[in-house]
Amino acid sequence: MRSLVPTLLALGAVAACMNPDDPGPATEDTSADLLGGACPLSGPNARLTCQPGQCGRVPDGCRGDLWCGDCACPASSMSCERSLTWASEITLVTPGWHTLEIINPTSNADPVLHVLDANGTEVAYDDNGAGGVRPRLTVQVPTGTTRIVVVRAKSDAAAGSATLLDGTTAYSVSIGGIHQTFTGLRAGEDLETVKLPGGASGVHTIYAMSGDGEHIVARAQGNGTLDAAVLHLTSAAASQTFVLSAITSGPAPTQLIRNDAALHDRDLDGLGDELEAAIGTCSAADQVVTGKDGVAFDCHRATDVRDTDGDGLSDLLEVRGDRAGYPHSALPLWGASPRHKDLFAEVDSAQRMTNEIVDKMTIESARRFSDIYGDRVSMLTPALAAAHADELVNPDHQPGIRTHLDIGRSPTDPADATVFGDWGGYSTVPPPMPNTNPPVTVPLDVAWPANMATTRRGVFRYAMSWNGGGGSTGVRSYAWGAGNQGSPGNASAHESGHANGLPHSGPGPVDPNGVDPNCKVAYPSIMNYAYTYSDKVGFSDGQGLRSLDNAGVVEWNAVSPEYTGMLRFLDEVFEYRVDYTQGHVDWNRDGVFAPPGQAVRAYTNSHPGGECEFTRYNANLLDEEMRVYKSPALGRLGSRLYVFAPGTNMLRYQSSLDGADCPQPSTTPCRSWIPPRKLSTFDVTGGVDAARVRVNGSDVLLIVGVAADGTVNYSIMRDSKLGPLFSTPAWVPILARSSGEPALETMPDGRALLVIRERDDHMLVWAIFDPAANGWVRWAPAADCTTGNALYHSNFASPGLVRTNFVGNGPQIYGLFSNLADGNSDFRVNLRRFDASKACWTDAPELPVQNPSSFQIAGRPAAVFVPDNNIAQGGRLYVVSLASHYLADQRQLRQRWSYVDKNGTWWLGADESLDNEWLKGYGVDAWFDPGIDKNLRVAFAQSAGTAPAEDGGRVRFLPKADGINAYAQENRDDWAMIRIAMCRMLTSQNASQAISCPAWPY
Ligand SMILES: [Zn+2]
Repeated sequence: MRSLVPTLLALGAVAACMNPDDPGPATEDTSADLLGGACPLSGPNARLTCQPGQCGRVPDGCRGDLWCGDCACPASSMSCERSLTWASEITLVTPGWHTLEIINPTSNADPVLHVLDANGTEVAYDDNGAGGVRPRLTVQVPTGTTRIVVVRAKSDAAAGSATLLDGTTAYSVSIGGIHQTFTGLRAGEDLETVKLPGGASGVHTIYAMSGDGEHIVARAQGNGTLDAAVLHLTSAAASQTFVLSAITSGPAPTQLIRNDAALHDRDLDGLGDELEAAIGTCSAADQVVTGKDGVAFDCHRATDVRDTDGDGLSDLLEVRGDRAGYPHSALPLWGASPRHKDLFAEVDSAQRMTNEIVDKMTIESARRFSDIYGDRVSMLTPALAAAHADELVNPDHQPGIRTHLDIGRSPTDPADATVFGDWGGYSTVPPPMPNTNPPVTVPLDVAWPANMATTRRGVFRYAMSWNGGGGSTGVRSYAWGAGNQGSPGNASAHESGHANGLPHSGPGPVDPNGVDPNCKVAYPSIMNYAYTYSDKVGFSDGQGLRSLDNAGVVEWNAVSPEYTGMLRFLDEVFEYRVDYTQGHVDWNRDGVFAPPGQAVRAYTNSHPGGECEFTRYNANLLDEEMRVYKSPALGRLGSRLYVFAPGTNMLRYQSSLDGADCPQPSTTPCRSWIPPRKLSTFDVTGGVDAARVRVNGSDVLLIVGVAADGTVNYSIMRDSKLGPLFSTPAWVPILARSSGEPALETMPDGRALLVIRERDDHMLVWAIFDPAANGWVRWAPAADCTTGNALYHSNFASPGLVRTNFVGNGPQIYGLFSNLADGNSDFRVNLRRFDASKACWTDAPELPVQNPSSFQIAGRPAAVFVPDNNIAQGGRLYVVSLASHYLADQRQLRQRWSYVDKNGTWWLGADESLDNEWLKGYGVDAWFDPGIDKNLRVAFAQSAGTAPAEDGGRVRFLPKADGINAYAQENRDDWAMIRIAMCRMLTSQNASQAISCPAWPY
């Protein structure tokens, strides 16, 4: 049985790490020593010093690591750490005789002088020629050559400083150099220094000493990775001492490796078998290797033994760095380990226009990125930490992936040494030429080959950051990009997740129907828009809540109460009412937990403020001839659903036969629409609406249009065998012209109500069509029932109407009016109930508007009541509207509904994107017929400002605009996919490295 441990728990647990004295929340402190007292390697929480038994600084703070625990450095070592000191070198260039003497050595210092020729061959030596510990010697510099003077300490305990006199010239010199003896040396071995984070920087030198330890017999300097040193041994030695030097003010750690690759390298990865055995990397599949952390790894689990940890970077690159091209990629210096997955990326700043200033990625963002990939966002139980490590096949059996970003900033906190740096690749990416409007960056697939050094391909991934928000990255990409606004660390991790194989619905076989549900409750991952900006969510491990289906979801005991973290997300992120004790969840937001055994229909993967996209499936794009820049109108007559579009001096329409409802989502439309028709005798240039009424025992559609000159006209549309028949358009007898779109709705008594906004003074005017009279029976200016004052309307928007039937409230008709009541600046939408008996409009306190100040609209709001017996209120009012924006191309489609929030308040709100924030429209309408429609239907004119850019004005029909699709929304395991994708995507750009990666699972 699987452990029932919440995937995401311990909201306070990370905080417990901040102060070691803080015991943290009592219930969550059991995990305090999960990872050897793991703290995030970021900010003040990081610990770069090693644990007892370890030495120096390690790349990943308090975690076990490749280089830890080998400070003893016995002579038989193939790899170990030493702290280097500086043995000064002075180059003599003046020909002739030089007398060299050391004076004023510091106490305990015991200097030795060597003079080498340019090839490193010793030509002079002295230890104590000037008396005491002081050396003195005389040497000739032949014309045309130079001589190198080395001042080293006689032993590790004899370091210090002194003055070197060259005749009358005085030099301050450091007397240093660390002595390291190795045994069993073979000709062909390479002795190499490897730079470590926070360790000895600058130029490294290795001096090979004679058998008696006195004379220098060989010298290597600055020829390793990024000025480290490699000494190639040309002869065997049972024992030999080396003096190791780095230009440093104090002892600074460096890794020493003895690479026996020239002698035996079974996997041909450039690291010898003995070295690999010593550091715990594989040279053959049939091995079990043990790292210096004491953790064993079965090499059968490595897809390619040349890359033990399977991150796409060969063991050689991670142990020694990449010296192909300049500057070198000093991967170990920047935190690489061959026993733990590492991801290196260059993060450039991309301009969208010439001379734009684009900030580098911030320190906070780089740390956040590192914490998300490092699996440090939530505290893991020991069992989950082990499970995550196992899924990643990290040989050190630690969870997470270490990220190392070249952002062009040098860290000031040593804890950040491996998290980010200025490693030579950062640059500004120029904008497209010529500049575009609106401004955009050059595409990623153009940017990265042009702006990253070719030698970094297959070593570094590439990322772009720009001024702005959002991001756009193809699933399985080499590069990714994210704007630098909002929470750019999360955004960049999200986009890199796409690059690493994760769509918004998580990894899984490609849905044959193209479905990629966003905001899945049961998928707590930053890939999911509901969680992207949560500071408590990283990548999902697929555990916890497993699956939900909006077509039937149980509220009673919905989530095991053990999943406290999940319940907390449902409460805090999705704003569901939850019962933590019983695990009940009010999925349909009606304020009631449906009893056991009862399933409800609910758009579970949505939330206030959401961008959840599940409304988009099975959509149609109507014909080009229907192109419109204001609201279309929906109406059903018989078994046909019509879309009407106002055109210049004409009415256009398309219809579709009701039939299969395709409950399961797909990108394939589930309706077909007959070609558009035009009615050029009906001028509806200014807008159109439709409502169904019954005339002489037959259903008809009443259609009202506003003509180009603002007059309001109507036509009756009847069904016939030959298609719809329209009565001759006639004037609606009201003494007003309209300057906006008309609103028409069937009243509870069967009559139809029309509301328009007067052209001249923006006053609202209503009229009633009575089917019994087959005509308009009265009209009046709209007035407030209490004050009797006339109602005026925003000139940016048009009024909307809706008929509802809430429990206890009865059939009612409401207006959605964008008032000017508080002055010209206030366009907030009010809900007003029509009082037919008093012929006035009353405020509707029974259904208050949530956050009214944010409910500002353009165009005509579309509102529909959808009855549902499983909703305590008897049904739900949906309102779809365009958010006000002064640019007509930039009006987002928003959705609100009647709901009971988690505090028990019933209102019209839960404002969220109808699809996502990049979907913009010119106008919208909605429809629902009980008994016929299973889902809310919406038609809207899409805006050219939609991203990706859409064909502006085309009408899109959404058959499932309420997000209720029959579809199993599963939890998914991000780590299992990232493991594969990070290797495959990296190696896709480096054929020469030719590391084999795990196969794509699908
Ligand atoms: Zn995304």
